[in-house]
Amino acid sequence: MMKNVLILICLFINSIAIGQMMKKELTEEEKRVIVYKGTERPFTGKYYDFKEKGTYLCKQCGAPLYYSEAKFDSGCGWPSFDEEISGAVKRVPDVDGRRTEIICAKCGGHLGHVFIGEGFTPKNTRHCVNSISMDFLPENGKDTETAIFAGGCFWGVEHLMRQQPGILSIEAGYIGGNTEHPTYKEVCSKTTGHAEAVRIMFDPSKVSYTTLAKLFFEIHDPTQTDGQGPDLGDQYRSEIFYTTDRQKEIAEELIRELKGKGYKVVTRVTSATDFWKAEDYHQDYYNKTGKEPYCHRYTPRF
Ligand SMILES: [Zn+2]
Repeated sequence: MMKNVLILICLFINSIAIGQMMKKELTEEEKRVIVYKGTERPFTGKYYDFKEKGTYLCKQCGAPLYYSEAKFDSGCGWPSFDEEISGAVKRVPDVDGRRTEIICAKCGGHLGHVFIGEGFTPKNTRHCVNSISMDFLPENGKDTETAIFAGGCFWGVEHLMRQQPGILSIEAGYIGGNTEHPTYKEVCSKTTGHAEAVRIMFDPSKVSYTTLAKLFFEIHDPTQTDGQGPDLGDQYRSEIFYTTDRQKEIAEELIRELKGKGYKVVTRVTSATDFWKAEDYHQDYYNKTGKEPYCHRYTPRF
């Protein structure tokens, strides 16, 4: 919950800047869609065939509306999302009496329509949104950067890294496998190839990637192959999923340093693939349950 609050605060601050910038004036075409509830022509919008990672914002007021991981290709010709950011989008009956219109919860700007029960994704929901109603904030913009670490049970990694200042959000999830929308049960069955991992959004002006990566190497055992303590299986492997070339260099440099100290590090360094957020009950697990990690503890190694 705290991470959501933090990210929303962060995005809200961004949104104030962007909102002020954007609210100055809308173009005629933007007004036609956002104010007068028009529709852009299919297959023409800026974000229809767009797969960058980041956050979609309301063009009119800058409020964050959708994360890129909720976006999917429906073939309909408009950007499609199966989930909005909590509380960001309001559903209202369309004047046509049939459809459900979606509007920005903050400014009321027209976004598009929402359709239920089409079966495109497990969430069974399609927000069909006009590109022109949105702006896009890239994940690795100048204000934020993303780091992804796999080091055994994600409960422990999340718990011990969460306390690091400069982290804006931290989520438990799955990465590095070969299926989409994996569940905990599937990952535990060791058939999908995913690793349990955490995804961290951080402010590089407050904490460096080097600091985070060092912390990662000190809160799990990077010398154990396919497991952490009693947790055995390749979903518990040690792996760094880098999102920039610089992160890759730093990770490799730290591994060299540890090897120089005699640690037989087995941590893999891999380019990040899709990160699938884990089920809600895995998020912030130890704080919610009041338990303590059994498989992770801080051990100085640098
Ligand atoms: Zn808005």
